[in-house]
Amino acid sequence: MPALKTIEIIGGGLAGLTLGIGLRQREIPVVIWEAGSYPRHRVCGEFISGRGQETLRRLGLLEHLISCHARMARTATFFSEQICSREMILPRPALAVSRLHLDERLADEFRRSGGDLRENVRRSAQPMMEGVVRASGRRIHPIANGWRWLGLKVHAQRVCLKSDLELHLTPDGYVGLCQLDGEVNVCGLFRSRTPLPDAMANWRRSFSGAPSSSLAGHCAEALFDEASLCSVAGLSFQPASGSELNECSVGDAFSMIAPVTGNGMSMAFESAAIAIEPLQEYSRGKQSWEGTQQLIARRCSGAFRARLQLASWLQKALFHPRLSSGLIRLVNCFPQAFSAMFMHTR
Ligand SMILES: Cc1cc2nc3c(=O)[nH]c(=O)nc-3n(C[C@H](O)[C@H](O)[C@H](O)COP(=O)(O)OP(=O)(O)OC[C@H]3O[C@@H](n4cnc5c(N)ncnc54)[C@H](O)[C@@H]3O)c2cc1C
Repeated sequence: MPALKTIEIIGGGLAGLTLGIGLRQREIPVVIWEAGSYPRHRVCGEFISGRGQETLRRLGLLEHLISCHARMARTATFFSEQICSREMILPRPALAVSRLHLDERLADEFRRSGGDLRENVRRSAQPMMEGVVRASGRRIHPIANGWRWLGLKVHAQRVCLKSDLELHLTPDGYVGLCQLDGEVNVCGLFRSRTPLPDAMANWRRSFSGAPSSSLAGHCAEALFDEASLCSVAGLSFQPASGSELNECSVGDAFSMIAPVTGNGMSMAFESAAIAIEPLQEYSRGKQSWEGTQQLIARRCSGAFRARLQLASWLQKALFHPRLSSGLIRLVNCFPQAFSAMFMHTR
């Protein structure tokens, strides 16, 4: 039997680690290059919702992750400047877990399965070579459609929540609150037409909301854990088509979904799962690299196209004050509209 070809993965985030674990379960040799190290905080609302949970279960990882400071989120409330929604029951519960624990657990599992994880190495990603998968996260766009986007996250104690998940809309952004195990994730996405002010210097203002807003009320007594503070800029939410990329990519490197849906982690797990079998065939010499790349791109495009478009539309609507209040009124009158939006964006 010919030797198995090694798969190299650039990026040890959720997509890269899940793919690495899946390939190691099939005894494929894998090297992951990760620019950072573990544990580390990431900008993320930190709730996994949608099919990603099934993917993790199939890979035998879900129980393992549930045991690492995870809790189920079952309810959500939406707040605009004018109106607040009723408490909505999530059609499927989400798994709320800090990325500090999640990424580290997956990294441990990859190493335990015999994978070669090289931390603190930034691997050049150009040009993409045969056998190399890009799982290096979002592609950087300093300006997207005239907007500069910024994501911020911090953990806090003494934040008063009405539901497991909350979304507070502000004039040019939103702040999500998610109850984690013992603390609350406070995560915001903001946009600006002009260069963004120093994000790290102004983070408290970004999270405090207008003086009389619901957000200000919820965070009035908050004790923020500054060690968990992190930021990310250069985001773009234009749905990508995998076939245009002409490389093998998974997770945000394939396409970033508008974060408002809380489905990016799920897409990272799902796209990794899609890539496992074609990469196994390539490693065994049964499929060309070009064929492998095309198959993964086609399957990812098919799985995510509709979801990416709906999420992009939904995020645009939520950034429009009248449309966002209209949407909240709609779900207040017709909770089934919320269920339909929830299910179709994941
Ligand atoms: C504001 C905001 C809120 C969000 N909230 C949620 C949420 O609540 N729920 C949800 O499901 N999703 C959410 N997401 C999305 C989610 O965080 C991402 O979709 C997910 O992390 C993507 O995983 P990934 O593995 O593709 O990328 P990443 O997690 O970004 O991992 C990429 C890795 O690649 C490494 N890397 C990059 N370049 C190189 C290189 N050249 N060499 C070596 N290593 C490299 C990086 O260090 C990083 O570790 C949110 C995103 C934002 C911006």
